[in-house]
Amino acid sequence: MNVLIYSENDGGLKELVTAAREIGADSISAAVIGTKEFAELARKFVNKVYFADSEKFGEFRPAEYAEVLNDIVKSVDPDVLLVEGSPKGVVVASILAAKLDAACVSEASQVRMDDGADGLIAVRSSYGGVAQAEIKLKTSPSIVCLKPGSYPKADEAGEGEIEEVQVEISPSVEVVEVRSKEVGLRLEDAEVVVVAGRGVKKKEDLSMLEELAEVLGGAVGVTRPLSADLHWAPNWVGMSGVAVKPKLYVGVGVSGQIQHIAGVRDSKTIIAINSDPNAPIFEHADYGIIGDLYAVVPKLLEKIKEYK
Ligand SMILES: Cc1cc2nc3c(=O)[nH]c(=O)nc-3n(C[C@H](O)[C@H](O)[C@H](O)COP(=O)(O)OP(=O)(O)OC[C@H]3O[C@@H](n4cnc5c(N)ncnc54)[C@H](O)[C@@H]3O)c2cc1C
Repeated sequence: MNVLIYSENDGGLKELVTAAREIGADSISAAVIGTKEFAELARKFVNKVYFADSEKFGEFRPAEYAEVLNDIVKSVDPDVLLVEGSPKGVVVASILAAKLDAACVSEASQVRMDDGADGLIAVRSSYGGVAQAEIKLKTSPSIVCLKPGSYPKADEAGEGEIEEVQVEISPSVEVVEVRSKEVGLRLEDAEVVVVAGRGVKKKEDLSMLEELAEVLGGAVGVTRPLSADLHWAPNWVGMSGVAVKPKLYVGVGVSGQIQHIAGVRDSKTIIAINSDPNAPIFEHADYGIIGDLYAVVPKLLEKIKEYK
């Protein structure tokens, strides 16, 4: 079985390699639309890298990226295309799926071959996280966008060759201005994740949790209401957001609804800080602190700094 993978970063690439190996790929190729440096890294994990220099695009162009991927798909003729389910990955995958008339599943947390290897099954949560849907994809290629953090990162194996793909673009849109934004540690790569919930009253109070994450060497995430409703952060942690599996998860003012827990339950150690002793998060926590986060977090910070 021929598997092609596409991710924009090394963490995502390594996770897709693990998924491809687990479904029994005979050959794994990577499509890299990025830097030569990234292509050099990717070759250490796959049989072959198809490299398109992203400099030639100037900036991210979904339709043109999909066009390049389409050319790579024609060369590789993969049975399966695994894409990192990042916001950019999902856009490119969906345009490509429409071009190829291929089956495409987004937000998958797992892929496996159906018994008898006559089809690929993608698993994703359904009905608000209370059920799991198993979707069989019957086209070749089948396209699956795997949620970041769904698989462990693969180890290096081999030195694949790099083939440079020619990029000819006649832009369909003109980009007038691009404003870059600071991107810190990816939540799915962080060994410590501190998550703020609605118990945090003001956006400015997130700085207290950022300080906690910093002293613990981790990153801060938020629950869905803080992102989708209050727009305090671009993405959220949980079933419909980013799935995390850190060594340590600290939920601060997070109630622990099933949709959130579904994306954090594989964390090694879960600590919950909540003023309500009946908050559902305590059922999933290894350690619970019942109290007002505005009293608990500063005390914790003080103790950690003392200890350090
Ligand atoms: C289809 C679907 C998908 C969803 N996907 C996600 C997802 O991926 N991720 C996600 O997070 N949510 C998701 N949700 C939303 C989810 O159901 C919950 O609504 C959400 O997780 C609740 O966020 P919260 O814990 O921040 O807020 P709340 O449920 O309001 O909890 C706030 C908590 O803070 C505590 N608190 C209040 N004040 C303090 C204080 N001073 N000190 C300490 N504790 C305090 C309260 O006791 C309470 O437990 C989804 C919902 C749906 C329908």
